[in-house]
Amino acid sequence: MNAKISEIFYSLQLEGSFIGYPAIFIRFSGCNLNCDFCDTKYALDEGIKKNKEEIYERIKRFNTKRIIFTGGEPALYDDFMADFMKTYYDYEYFIETNGTIFIEQSIKKLKHIVVSPKFFAIDEDVLNLFNKHSNSVEFKFIIDNEDDIKQTERLTDKLKLKNITLQPLFDNDKPIEQYIKKTAKIIELFKKSNLTNKNARLIIQNQKIIYNQQRGV
Ligand code: SF4
Repeated sequence: MNAKISEIFYSLQLEGSFIGYPAIFIRFSGCNLNCDFCDTKYALDEGIKKNKEEIYERIKRFNTKRIIFTGGEPALYDDFMADFMKTYYDYEYFIETNGTIFIEQSIKKLKHIVVSPKFFAIDEDVLNLFNKHSNSVEFKFIIDNEDDIKQTERLTDKLKLKNITLQPLFDNDKPIEQYIKKTAKIIELFKKSNLTNKNARLIIQNQKIIYNQQRGV
């Protein structure tokens, strides 16, 4: 079995519940969406097919036992991930997915799941499956304005989402000062929303602030 891999690298998880932990990132190539704001456009088609042994040869030298499957869209490789986790069972596994494809084969083997739904491509049935099938799932919404907060409130209430992270959108072509101002506004919107009484919090896009569009970090 092969998977098309865009890149493999060793870095820190700078977002979400496991922020700050060292991890190996396995970035799959290809995605079923094509978001304007995608910061890994190169991973939408670029990549080299590799089998699990070739991937293991690359990762075994890294000094951590945490692996994050990301993309592109890793859920396109559900069978491959399940087989990989079964073979290399002494690692802890995480995933970051857009929440449009349910990962039936691999979900039980994952320690933590970050689902980042895109408002233009919400599949409530699939979000529901993620919410029900894992006790360690986090829904990360990328927030640009008040409407995005309202949509997050609506989905959280309707689907009874358990664990919410709001992440202010970083505009790649704008200076960091604008990101700080925008984040301050979003914090105020968050404070006024009904999300404050749910399991919701806000985390900024640390990865973008530190590395912007650099690859392999
Ligand atoms: S879902 Fe993620 S990887 Fe796919 S196009 Fe959108 S931002 Fe990029």
